[in-house]
Amino acid sequence: MSGRFAPTPTSDLHIGNLRTALVAWLAARSTRREFLIRIEDLDAPRMKDSDSIARQQLEDLATLGIDHDGPIVYQKDRTGIYEDALVRLGDLVYECFCSRKDITEAAQAPHGVVPKYPGTCRDLSESQKASLRKLRPPSLRINACSAPECIADQLLGSYADTVDDFVVRRADGVFAYNFAVVVDDGLQDVDQVVRGADLLDSSPRQAWLASQLGFRVPEYLHVPLVIGLDNTRLAKREKAVSLAQLHQQGISTTDLLSMLAASLGLASAGEKVTVAMLIDRFDPAKLPREPWQFTQLLAPGKHDVDQEDHRGTLRDS
Ligand code: GLU
Repeated sequence: MSGRFAPTPTSDLHIGNLRTALVAWLAARSTRREFLIRIEDLDAPRMKDSDSIARQQLEDLATLGIDHDGPIVYQKDRTGIYEDALVRLGDLVYECFCSRKDITEAAQAPHGVVPKYPGTCRDLSESQKASLRKLRPPSLRINACSAPECIADQLLGSYADTVDDFVVRRADGVFAYNFAVVVDDGLQDVDQVVRGADLLDSSPRQAWLASQLGFRVPEYLHVPLVIGLDNTRLAKREKAVSLAQLHQQGISTTDLLSMLAASLGLASAGEKVTVAMLIDRFDPAKLPREPWQFTQLLAPGKHDVDQEDHRGTLRDS
């Protein structure tokens, strides 16, 4: 039985990611689980500097005192494992030739909204597929038959949705996050998934897929995001604050831990803590359910320019 933290190495971990990592570590350690770290670099060839960013992420976690068990797992090394899992899904998987635009139009979704897949390619004939293959490479989707799925989040309560035919392998051959994460969690014996609340809506499809693959559905805890002064999430590159940037601003690792612990209701304001001290205080049911407003933001112009290209794809936590 394990918990885990699974960062994508597109940019330095920011304060929201670090806070989520702390909760993930505390959730695992307070229940005597192993704690695994998995680098989600599925798309490594297209990610800029993913190896060096991953190294920095690991260093930052270690600086906070977040240790881990076993070797670090890198998704880029696991393509063969995902291929085997795909084979296990057999006929549930089908080729889809739709572009994003086709799907938006077919689903009549407003511009900018990612619609549920309307099933356009689910029942194509062999000859239709043969002619479409000449036009474009297909992605692979899984036939979920709009299965209803409800997950119980330890903090946010139950969350239900119907599962659409989501992509398991992209048209460029890269396995999709929603597929790889389930295969990895299943094979790594992860039964506790702690991550940012922006991924809550991915959980029903992941829980459904876990069952299809014969894995136990993990318990979930989605950590509310960190927001800035303007009440928007920290994902925007001008507001994401890494450990190095906090240090530059005179906020030490001890200060940061103290702020994070207080924001989680695990310490009083200004109290100096170590991560180990927080294990006995940790109770998932008592964590705040609202986003945390982080107000000590960097002054404009002090950003690390080298990181700016990656920031656009950041998640808050
Ligand atoms: N790799 C994802 C991220 O960095 C997290 C995935 C997960 O925890 O399931 O946001």
